[in-house]
Amino acid sequence: MVKFVRYDAGDNISHWGIINNENNIIEIEGDIFTEYTVTDKIIEISKIKILAPVEPSKIVAVGLNYKDHVEEMHMPLPEEPLIFLKPSTTVIGQGEKIILPKMSSQVEFEAELAIVISNTIKNITEAEVDFNILGYTCLNDVTARDLQKKDGQWTRAKSFDTFAPIGPCIVKGIDPDAQTIKLFLNGELKQTSNTSNFIFKTRKLVAYISTLMTLNRGDVITTGTPGGVGPMKTGDRVEVQIGEIGTLLNYVE
Ligand code: MG
Repeated sequence: MVKFVRYDAGDNISHWGIINNENNIIEIEGDIFTEYTVTDKIIEISKIKILAPVEPSKIVAVGLNYKDHVEEMHMPLPEEPLIFLKPSTTVIGQGEKIILPKMSSQVEFEAELAIVISNTIKNITEAEVDFNILGYTCLNDVTARDLQKKDGQWTRAKSFDTFAPIGPCIVKGIDPDAQTIKLFLNGELKQTSNTSNFIFKTRKLVAYISTLMTLNRGDVITTGTPGGVGPMKTGDRVEVQIGEIGTLLNYVE
């Protein structure tokens, strides 16, 4: 298992590193999507700013992929994956603020496991999926629930700036369909499940979405949220915690 982080060391340049332990990272040179070398430079995590691990051209999101969430939304079980998009401008990183838009009075959290695509792909089979994934990360699919219900389709509700916190790292070499997933709001457990409860597994999702659209290097697929979604307000601290990945922390403003 390898954990990649993207960071700014105070020089306004995006660097890549590998998490060494909870206190430091090892800097890498090159591009993690193609070729890189691990340097011997050790950097303290307290001295850097962790950035969103990717800058996707698009985020493809899956709705209603856990049975208990389908039930709480009073929706029928999907027969094929339900897909929508979040624009690239929704992305923020570790520690950054989710800004509540004036237009909504019910902005909710959704803890999700996200897949980072490593190559340009189209029409791939499930057997080809693993060779085209860089790794996995945490994502909070922030949603203006009142606008989602009002509009019927979900673009407005899912697309405000800051509505896709991602991170803190991209983890390679884990089983994405067997991870605990939890959400804590101000330290209180609000969502808890395991990705083994997915209605559609990750390989199926990636192969299926690749039949609809070309996926670019760095694009993100987010796999849906378990039951227990709920509202956030100004000043809240929201954490998405996934088994072998870690904890994505954001604040609400
Ligand atoms: Mg969602």
